[in-house]
Amino acid sequence: TALIEARGLGKRYGNVVALADVSTRVDAGKVTCILGDNGAGKSTLIKILAGAQTHDDGELVVAGEPVTFQRPKDALDRGIATVYQSLAVVPMMPVWRNFFLGSELTKGSGPLRRLAVREMKEVTRSDLASMGIDLRDVDQPIGTLSGGERQCVAIARAVHFGARVLILDEPTAALGVKQSGVVLRYVAAARDRGLGVVLITHNPHHAALVGDRFLLLRRGRAIAGYERGEVTAAE
Ligand code: ADP
Ligand code: ADP
Repeated sequence: TALIEARGLGKRYGNVVALADVSTRVDAGKVTCILGDNGAGKSTLIKILAGAQTHDDGELVVAGEPVTFQRPKDALDRGIATVYQSLAVVPMMPVWRNFFLGSELTKGSGPLRRLAVREMKEVTRSDLASMGIDLRDVDQPIGTLSGGERQCVAIARAVHFGARVLILDEPTAALGVKQSGVVLRYVAAARDRGLGVVLITHNPHHAALVGDRFLLLRRGRAIAGYERGEVTAAE
């Protein structure tokens, strides 16, 4: 079974058709890439998957069960975590505090227990290290990290708190070649741990590096769908 199966999703904002008859799936240990220009419907699609937006048409099936998400917490409770471009980090706060920020929202989906500050710092350090980011000083404000490292902290946080699906909104958009590499390696590490990843990107090269499935949107419609190693025209 797919972690997420979206069937014929549709969404309108007044007269604007933001999404029309879009289907895709997210599998454990695979990366589904959503590609398309501005206004293609990428944000709308991930907001629906993340419970931040309801859909007008179609069906959302999570782990074999049809669901209707009313709020982001509904998706989070199903292990669907979203890392938006804004990252929801507080720049002035230490890395470790950002790591544990909002953890009360994920009740039941992770190892929620009261930890001493020392333990939280150690968890932050070791979780980042286990996925290849060696951060000596988790006391530094997260704002002092590079953009790529900040993305990685946000991803590690979601993984730590029990995400099974990771939705990444343009994680490399603001980054250079080297920092993009850091983040893409981190995405691959999450995938190799068995998470299902949804990667929104403008960059076909980044998609090609880590993607297993590719969905190309234009003006709200799926104009092509590809699997790695197989090419099929959707329409
Ligand atoms: P993308 O993320 O690919 O840039 P969006 O999903 O943000 O695309 O937008 C798809 C279409 O829906 C665009 O025409 C956009 O202007 C419109 N749209 C998105 N959100 C809203 C909204 N909240 N209200 C009205 N129109 C919206
Ligand atoms: P992105 O390309 O990252 O989606 P946008 O600038 O297209 O960024 O959209 C930012 C936010 O504004 C999103 O939440 C989107 O749903 C909303 N939005 C986009 N287009 C419109 C619109 N025409 N009217 C109202 N809200 C919109």
